[in-house]
Order: sequence, then C-alpha cells, then structure tokens
Amino acid sequence: MSVVTRFAPSPTGMLHIGGARTALFNYLFAKHHNGKFLLRIEDTDRERSTPEATTAILEGMDWLGLVPDEPPLMQFERAGRHAEVAEEMIRRGTAFRCYATQEELQARRDLGEEKRQAAKAEGLPDDEKARLLAEAHELLAPYRSPWRDGAAAPAPDASFTVRLRAPEGGERILNDGVQGQVKIQASELDDMILLRADGTPTYMLAVVVDDHDMGVTHIIRGDDHLRNAFRQIPIYEAMGWQIPEFAHVPLIHGADGAKLSKRHGALSTLAYREMGYLPEAMRAYLLRLGWSHGDQEIFTDAEAAQVFDISGMNKAPARLDLDKLGQVNSHFMRLADDERLFALLKPYWEESGPMGDAEPRLRAALPHMKDRGTTLPELAQSFAFLLAKRPLELNKNARKALTEVGLDRLSGLRDELRRVTQWRTDQIAEAISSFCAAKDLSMGQIGQPLRAALTGGLPAPDIAPVLEWLGQDEALARIDDQLAAAQGPAA
Ligand code: GLU
Repeated sequence: MSVVTRFAPSPTGMLHIGGARTALFNYLFAKHHNGKFLLRIEDTDRERSTPEATTAILEGMDWLGLVPDEPPLMQFERAGRHAEVAEEMIRRGTAFRCYATQEELQARRDLGEEKRQAAKAEGLPDDEKARLLAEAHELLAPYRSPWRDGAAAPAPDASFTVRLRAPEGGERILNDGVQGQVKIQASELDDMILLRADGTPTYMLAVVVDDHDMGVTHIIRGDDHLRNAFRQIPIYEAMGWQIPEFAHVPLIHGADGAKLSKRHGALSTLAYREMGYLPEAMRAYLLRLGWSHGDQEIFTDAEAAQVFDISGMNKAPARLDLDKLGQVNSHFMRLADDERLFALLKPYWEESGPMGDAEPRLRAALPHMKDRGTTLPELAQSFAFLLAKRPLELNKNARKALTEVGLDRLSGLRDELRRVTQWRTDQIAEAISSFCAAKDLSMGQIGQPLRAALTGGLPAPDIAPVLEWLGQDEALARIDDQLAAAQGPAA
C-alpha cells in the first residue's frame, strides 16, 4: 500500500504553529514511506473562510518547504460529490432522509431540559425524580431519528436533511497511533446530519469523502479531532470504504504548561519568519515538539525523513520553548550558505539606509561571525561595527580608552599598520605584536585604544580579523579620525 497523507487546514486565519507541526508530521511520514503528501483547504465554512487566509496558509507552508505533491484541493468545490455520496448511502440504507424539523428538535431538547430541571425540585419522591431524569436523559441523548428506518415522506414537498444511520449498540474502538486504544459507547453517537436541508454537505461528510477520494491512508492531526474520528469512521463503514489509520497528536502548550495562546508569544508560523528564524530551524524545532528519536536533538531534513515514525510521537503535550528554538536557529545559521545568509541579513543591515561601501566588509566577516546571534536580527546587529559610518560615534568606554597616552600609541601603531603589504589577519597580527615588542607594550595597552578607534566601542570579535575585514584604507581612516579629533578642529 502506498502511503498518502494530507494536511487539511480550515482557511479561517493564519497557519498557526500547531498546524505547521501537523503539516510537517504528515509531510515527513509521507516522505519516510516514499508516499504522497497532499493539501486540502477546508473552506466549507463560507462565513469564516477567506482567500487571504488560504494565501497565508500557502505562504506559511511554502516558507517551511512543506510543498504538497499535488495542487491543493479546495473542499467547497466538491460539494456535488459530497451530496452524491450521501445519496449513495441512502440507496445502501446506511443513511436516510429525516423529516424532523428544527422546531421539533428544539422542542425535544427543551422538554428534556425542563424535565432535568423538574427533577431538581425539592421534596420530590425518589421514584418520581428517577423517572424525570430517565426521560430527560432519553430526550437529551444523542439523537436517533424516528425516520431512520426510511419511512416515506410526510408530504411530497416536505423538507428533509440526510442523516447517517448511526451504529448501534456496544463499544466503538479506535486504535490510535498516538493515543492507543480509545473506546466510546455507540450510544454516544447521533444520527448525524450529512446533508443539510438546503442540500449542502456537512463538514463531517466532506472530510471523509475527500480523504477517501484523495486515497488518504494515514490521518495525522491534532487530538482536538479525536472525537471526530468516532463520527467519521461510521461514514467509511456506511460506504464500505477502507478506514485510514489515525494518529491524534496532543496540542502544543506554552512554557507554563497551559494550552498555547497569544500570551505565549506568536502563534502564526510567518511571525517566526518575521522574527528572524530560518525555515529549516523551525522545521527541526517543530519536529522535536512532540516527537522524539532516541536523544537526538537536531535532525537534518534527510535524517528526519529517514527516521520519522508515528511511534516516536508523545502522548503528553509538548511545550513551546523559545530558548530552545533560538539554539536550534543558531545551529542552522552557522550551517547556512554564505550567499543565502547574506541575502537574509541584508534587509536588517539596510534598515537605516543602503550599506554602501560596507558590503565588502560584511561579506569578508560573514563566514567568521555566523555564530553571533540566535535570530537573524540579532546576528545582523553583531555586524554593526562594520556598518558604522565615519567618523565613528564613540560610546563611553571607547572615549575612556582613547586617552592621550592611548592616542599616542595608536599613532605609532598606525604607521606600522600602514606598512603592512599583505592585508591579512596573520600579517596584521604580526605587525601589532612587533609594534608592542618594540615599544614594550602589552596587547591590552594597545588593544583598547585600537578597538575603540575601529569600533567606537561596539561589540566585535578579535581585533586582527576585524582589521582585515575593514580593509586597510577604512581601518587607517578610522584611526586617523580619532587622531584628528584629538588635535581639535583643523585651523
Ligand atoms: N480542517 C480541520 C482543522 O483545521 C482539520 C480536519 C482534519 O484534519 O481532519 O482543524
């Protein structure tokens, strides 16, 4: 059997990270089995579904690289097919036309509620109370329609809904890939509506028909749909269709253990892109959120596809941990290709204007500075000393380092640096140490004013590579700026 999985979001909002994780699990499971990963947009709720939400979901999936193997299927377009299946069930006797009106159903519920309240009355004899409760229970129980045996219409033009003839008696058992064996009583299921009075299909019918027609073999989704599985399976049975395997994954919780909500931080997948996380980091992080394989923390995409299985999914809800995501992101930023990382950092560098002649410096430094942040903006920020415009603004520490003595030493070093012919870290380091040796200075004594002049006091790595990345002209010019400033304005 060839594996087919699907992700079936409702386009009523953004792609939230719980959804992204569901999509990822389905994607990896399909890849693991050389199967197909499909996408279905469940836009049957015409009031809440929007094209903007569909676009946002597609954009989120695209960013995460979760590309479906076929164009997305739009559920609403298939309403005709859904109705056709309901008709077929009527022919098979597994569904029926129900002529009960909304009013009748409401009256039934109201009566049930009345009896339940009446049973609470004080001083009621026990047997009377028991009788009322039993009647209330009957009236409020999952609805089994009086039309379920297919009685004729009360009038030729009577309006009707099509309902599934719910399974009778005993237990219903689901062997869920994550939750294990789950049981409910068949009596908990109602004769649910498949087609409304206006002929439109219900969500429950649409899901099953689509999953069947798409050839879905495994349904991996949030455990908020666990009970739906018990309502959906009878539709497969009614049509004599193969029932897919189910795996209901616990929802993601916040760091405090409560269900994930806005106050835990961003819920939208694309918000993580805006915050500066790489898609591969997001994938690797989401993968470990509720799934494990030994104690390996970080998986490449190829590794993930190779080892992903349902048995590695946890039954306990996973907690979102932004520190961990930062670590994973930092790992993938270090691995990222220079060109790509440059392009990703560029917008941050250009936030306050074009980078101009700083570009070669940034390019030179990039391969050596990839580990200096947990997000793209944080990493971009660590290059600030290369972007700084001359004459550099000095912070307090830099001003302190540029004392008269410091400047005097700097002026001597400047001449030494000017004579360096091969502007490379090793040669530069060599020039600095020979200057220190000649003047009997420690590295600290020259390092501090030098660093102050080159960076203005901004954080920067080792000074010799910093000099190399700046280039000889810029480095000397930055030193000259400080020497000139100390002389006071030119006369
Ligand atoms: N459309 C449903 C949702 O967005 C998912 C249905 C399913 O996966 O079966 O929650």
